[in-house]
Amino acid sequence: MADTSGPDALPAPAFGPDSEEMLRCIRCELRYVPSKSTSALRLTYCSFLCELGDLGFSITGLEHMEPQPKAIEPPAVELDPQPGEPAIVE
Ligand SMILES: [Zn+2]
Repeated sequence: MADTSGPDALPAPAFGPDSEEMLRCIRCELRYVPSKSTSALRLTYCSFLCELGDLGFSITGLEHMEPQPKAIEPPAVELDPQPGEPAIVE
């Protein structure tokens, strides 16, 4: 007994598909669709501008604009086990 095939049944509302959940930006408190957010934290900010304004930096900017840091960590040292000298005998 399905009554969804009536002539008055509209296929989609004028508001667009509501399959996606609207979130509220924690900075500007605007409602937005996460998939359309330009922020790297699209579940938190409506755009990267809000992310930038709230955090003081952009995570996406850090990823793309990060200069090559000087290698601080020492090079991998190969641990050569010394033969003929058993250190630990279980
Ligand atoms: Zn916002």
